[in-house]
Amino acid sequence: MTTAPARDQYQGSQTAFITGISGQDGSYLAEHLVGAGWSVHGMIRDGDEARQHLPGVVTIHNGDLTDARRLFQLIDEVQPDAVFNLGGMSSVARSWQEPYEAALATGAASIALLEGAWLLQQRTGREVRYLQASSAEIFGNAAEVPQNESTPIRPVTPYGAAKAFAHHAVRTYRSRGLFAASAILYNHESLRRPPTFVTRRITLGVAAIALGLKDRIRLGNLNAVRDFGWAPDYVDALTRITTAHQPDDFIVATGVSHSVKEFAQCAFAAAGIPDGLSRVDTDPRFHRPVEALEMRGDPSKISATLGWTATTDFQRIVQMMVDHDISIVRQHGLAALPTD
Ligand code: GDP
Repeated sequence: MTTAPARDQYQGSQTAFITGISGQDGSYLAEHLVGAGWSVHGMIRDGDEARQHLPGVVTIHNGDLTDARRLFQLIDEVQPDAVFNLGGMSSVARSWQEPYEAALATGAASIALLEGAWLLQQRTGREVRYLQASSAEIFGNAAEVPQNESTPIRPVTPYGAAKAFAHHAVRTYRSRGLFAASAILYNHESLRRPPTFVTRRITLGVAAIALGLKDRIRLGNLNAVRDFGWAPDYVDALTRITTAHQPDDFIVATGVSHSVKEFAQCAFAAAGIPDGLSRVDTDPRFHRPVEALEMRGDPSKISATLGWTATTDFQRIVQMMVDHDISIVRQHGLAALPTD
C-alpha cells in the first residue's frame, strides 16, 4: 500500500534539532526545513566555521557529539519535535585513523540523542521523532547486490561498525515506543561535497587539468563500485521518512552503480578532455585497509511507501559538479584543490 508522507505533520511550526548541520546534508536539510516553515536549530563543534550555506534564521548551538551531557542539555533547551542525527565522523577513510573517535561520535552519540528524545517525550507528553542518517557502510562486503532493508548487517570499517551500532540503537528505541527511523544512505554528492571525498577530488582535479593548471590527478582504488546519488534528493528522503505515518528503515539509493574509474572517465568527458584516464595515477596512500567492492542499494521500499525517487542521474551529477568546479578553479586557482 502506498502511504503518502503525513504532510500536515511536515508543514507548519515544528522545531528541528540537527546534528552535523554544517555538513553537506545538514545545510541542505536546514534550507529545506526552513522553507517548509520549521524552526531549525543545529549543533556545531567549537571552532567549526563552516556556516556559509546555512540560512540566517537557523539557531546554532555549540556542542560535541562525544559529550552526552551536552546533548541532553541541548534537547532540553530546544524542545524539538524532531531530532535529525546527521553528525559524526564524516568519512570512512578517517575512521581508520581515529576509530575510537568514530565509535563515539558516529555510534554512541545516537544513544544519548535517542534517550534525550525519549525523555523529552515522556516529560512533555508530546511526540518527539528521531531520524538517524544510517549508511550503506553497515552492510560491509554485502551478502547481496543490490542491498535492501533485510540485507545482513556486517560492517568492515570502523565507520560502518559505528553506524551499525546506531542503526541497532534506533530499532531498540523504536521497540520502546519512540518514533525512531533510519535512512540507509548510499554515497550522495553535490556542489557542497567536501574535497576529501573521491567525487569532488576528481571534479576539482579535472577542472584544474581543463584550465591547464595541472597535468595529472592521483586517486586510490579505481575499482570500487558505488551507488552515487544527488544529496538534495537524499535530504528530501530524510524529511519523508521523518514525517511518515510509521517509523521504519529505508534504503535511500539510486539503484544504479558505477566504479570510481567510470566517475573519473565521465568527469573528463564532461570537461571535454579525451583519453582522460591516461592522466590518472593511483596512489597507495588513498587505498583503504579493507572496503566493500560494490555497494548498490535497492530503493523499491521508499519508492513504493513514500513515493520517493532519485531525480538526478549519474551523468547529470558529474556534469554539474565539473561545470561548478571549473568556475571555482577559474576564480581561485589551485587554492581550491585539496592539499594531499
Ligand atoms: P566514503 O567511502 O563513503 O567516505 O566516500 P569516498 O568518496 O571517500 O570514497 C568512495 C570510494 O572511492 C571508496 O571506495 C574509496 O576507496 C574510493 N576512492 C578511490 N580513490 C579515492 C581517493 O582518492 N579519495 C577518496 N576519498 N576515495 C577514493
